Amino acid sequence: MRTTTGWRADGPAATLRQVPLERRDLRADDIAVRVERCGVCHTDLHSINNADGAVVPGHEFTGTVTEIGSAVTGFAVGDAVAVGNIVDSCGQCAMCLAGQENFCHEFPTTTYGGTDRHDGTTTLGGYAREYVVRESFAYALPDGLDPAAAAPLLCAGVTVWEPLRALGVGPGSRVAVAGLGGLGHLAVKFAVALGAEVAVISRTPDKLDDALELGARDLIVSTEDDRMAASRESFDVVIDTISAAHDLGSYLRLVAVDGTLAVVGHLGPISLEAMDLLVGRKKLTAAGSGGRPATRAMLEFCAEHDLVADVEVLPSAQVNEALERLGRGDVRYRFVLDMSDLD
Ligand SMILES: [Zn+2]
Ligand SMILES: [Zn+2]
Repeated sequence: MRTTTGWRADGPAATLRQVPLERRDLRADDIAVRVERCGVCHTDLHSINNADGAVVPGHEFTGTVTEIGSAVTGFAVGDAVAVGNIVDSCGQCAMCLAGQENFCHEFPTTTYGGTDRHDGTTTLGGYAREYVVRESFAYALPDGLDPAAAAPLLCAGVTVWEPLRALGVGPGSRVAVAGLGGLGHLAVKFAVALGAEVAVISRTPDKLDDALELGARDLIVSTEDDRMAASRESFDVVIDTISAAHDLGSYLRLVAVDGTLAVVGHLGPISLEAMDLLVGRKKLTAAGSGGRPATRAMLEFCAEHDLVADVEVLPSAQVNEALERLGRGDVRYRFVLDMSDLD
């Protein structure tokens, strides 16, 4: 075992404390990564609040390779890398063979709170100075992408990228994005860069300037019934990034004939009225995370389009403040922790 240091919550809703952490010794196909920047995701907050024991969160980070295993071919010491929310999968099921490791039939190994497929230990996340990962689940960070602003691409980014691509969003597509947080702001940026006409749906009108700045053409206020009615059936794709449970009917009504509502922000039971699908032959889908090919394609696209998240970088010692502010939606649009204060 090797020792590093990181931020751990010891029980439900606990304050994170800096503690020593153990990482495995490198296997032949492992690399060791010095974590430099790690995004703060809604899932981190959820995992801490519902912790069944200790949790070290963090599953969208960038850093530098410091050591490689004997069989590693894709990376060298000193390479800039990025790691997302999946660190292993079975590699043999139909989903893995199709490059959809995020849907692995044996469930992918998550970056934290997962069970390592070899030694059975619980994985500890990227709120730490070092991470050890199979090289096949690390990605080369393209030159020119700021390591802090790129970190959220690895969870929030790929979670909205994969459905946008799968739904064929491109020039001329009409896309609406509900919710303008970590996921939503990246969905807007991606859809705009893909050539779509984009609108933001928000509960309040005060996000108009932000929406326009991100490249959207319009903001629809979800609490204005006449405005919602006027926008009926006007979008080929609606990306719903709202994390709280909510009624899908009002968003389905914005979907055009044969269009799709993609739910990416909420996990848990959903209810809907079948008539809201029937009228207009609409489709409902959900997505989360991404496979390795989609993750690589997203990073290439981001490098080409100079596209990264809008972030607020804090020293990792302010992790509890970041989580508290995220909990009340006080962030534009993603916190990223700078881990250099852990040295
Ligand atoms: Zn996440
Ligand atoms: Zn699999």
